[in-house]
Amino acid sequence: MRDAKNHTFAVQLMEHLVVPTFVLDASGRVIIWNRACERMTGVPSSAVLGTRLHWTGFYQQQRRCLADLVLEGAASRVAEFYEIDRSLDCQTGALSAENWCVFPSGGGRRYLAIDAGPIYADDGTLIAVVETLRDITAQKEAQSALELLASLDGLTGIANRRAFDERVESEWALAAHSGQPLSLLMIDIDHFKVYNDHLGHQCGDDCLKRIAQIIVGETRADIDMVARYGGEEFAVVLPHACIEGALAVAGRILAATDGAAIPHPRAVPQGRVTISIGAASREAAMTAPAELIAAADASLYAAKQRGRNLIVAQSRAAA
Ligand code: GH3
Ligand code: MG
Ligand code: MG
Repeated sequence: MRDAKNHTFAVQLMEHLVVPTFVLDASGRVIIWNRACERMTGVPSSAVLGTRLHWTGFYQQQRRCLADLVLEGAASRVAEFYEIDRSLDCQTGALSAENWCVFPSGGGRRYLAIDAGPIYADDGTLIAVVETLRDITAQKEAQSALELLASLDGLTGIANRRAFDERVESEWALAAHSGQPLSLLMIDIDHFKVYNDHLGHQCGDDCLKRIAQIIVGETRADIDMVARYGGEEFAVVLPHACIEGALAVAGRILAATDGAAIPHPRAVPQGRVTISIGAASREAAMTAPAELIAAADASLYAAKQRGRNLIVAQSRAAA
């Protein structure tokens, strides 16, 4: 009698818990779907109690929830189903994870921190799994915004050197795996010190912004990366582009810069801002991304030596 009273009290407690919570029995059927869980998912407990339909609260397609993985003892499969696996202590059988969920009942897209833990009877048999959920969308969005900010150049709004280095590393690994080509352009504004000296730093900044936008305009959105490599130097990562493709892009950037006709009082004979471009492609003999960057840099140096306002392509083998 006292046990039954305790049980009812425990169920009532869970029902009114402010943390969205549901409980599965050992056969994977929902035995508790509390009020907070109803509010979060928009799914009433009457729709899921006694069923294995708990996934319908969170996902459009049938899939496992964290509580199912606890029931199955499938800790190793968390990464298969969740964006982030935070399970630190697999000894207890409890799992923690994070995921974007698109609530089918109209709650929108939310980022959830999820914990699921087993409950054992005195004899050690598993009798239930409790899953609790926390909506951490705001933190996730703030974190993403900060990460984006940290990857951008403050003046031009394009990618910064750090983001460029990361991207070259990842594209290098992809190219090494797939055998697809990978090219790089290094672009430097000609006689920029003199431009600054004569027109002032503010004008210099405006010029940097315009050149950045010209380069962005001549590259593939969402595929190529245009970055400020430093000072008045830009870099373009061209995944899947061979040297001929890279030269075509470089030609367009050079022509667009010329077409912009940004006045340069000391640039003889053009009278406008010009750029020099070095191009390089990944070769089988190269062993690290630094070698590709060095090859593009050597090409850029050659372009400067040969008189500026031109493009040079130089492979490592030809260096
Ligand atoms: P070259 O044709 O050989 O490339 O000569 P350059 O004058 O362009 O090259 P140099 O390396 O001698 O000078 C680069 C100048 O770029 C010097 C520096 O004042 C300017 N610069 C670098 N970063 C910025 C910036 O953020 N804003 C402005 N306005 N100028 C910058
Ligand atoms: Mg320069
Ligand atoms: Mg320079």
